[in-house]
Amino acid sequence: MWAQGDVAGNALFKHAGDYETRHVIDNVVDDERRALDLSAMPHAIFTEPQIAGVGVTEDELEAEGREYVVGRAEYADSAMGRAKKLDDGFVKVRAAPDGEILGYHVIGYEASMLVHEAVVAMRVGATVDEVADTIHAVRAGCTDAITEKLVT
Ligand SMILES: Cc1cc2nc3c(=O)[nH]c(=O)nc-3n(C[C@H](O)[C@H](O)[C@H](O)COP(=O)(O)OP(=O)(O)OC[C@H]3O[C@@H](n4cnc5c(N)ncnc54)[C@H](O)[C@@H]3O)c2cc1C
Repeated sequence: MWAQGDVAGNALFKHAGDYETRHVIDNVVDDERRALDLSAMPHAIFTEPQIAGVGVTEDELEAEGREYVVGRAEYADSAMGRAKKLDDGFVKVRAAPDGEILGYHVIGYEASMLVHEAVVAMRVGATVDEVADTIHAVRAGCTDAITEKLVT
């Protein structure tokens, strides 16, 4: 018996259902037996402004009693933010002391797109330093939050 989408009860999102469907096809049709990896599951709210996030919140980290650092960057402090006159919006990154990215939330212009830099980084286990050391044509909120304002 295979299930995909909301009925599987994992993450009730369209993209989660799509991901599970690909696995069902691979596993049932192509007999691959690939395991699901539902880590770094992003969510996005397509309001104006957009809101997006992945990973844990500060409240969740506090509840776990886990040590973490926070980086925060305002859109208005980035070159692109100034060029586009984005006065509102910010990015917040939470990381473990060793640099593991634990959570990322963004509210503002193109938030649903920006979140994916953090999603990929978390998925492959890239640390904040590795993301920050990656050359970006446009410095987006994720790297700004990581490199410029990481505080304990
Ligand atoms: C208001 C709202 C907003 C949402 N916004 C977002 C969003 O912005 N981003 C996001 O990722 N997710 C969003 N979701 C969640 C997303 O819609 C679901 O996670 C996704 O649709 C699940 O897909 P699914 O195929 O599992 O189920 P569904 O899309 O619910 O499809 C199930 C289908 O099965 C049919 N069906 C049910 N019973 C039977 C039966 N007995 N026989 C035959 N057919 C049957 C139904 O009619 C339906 O067509 C939202 C959900 C709601 C309700």
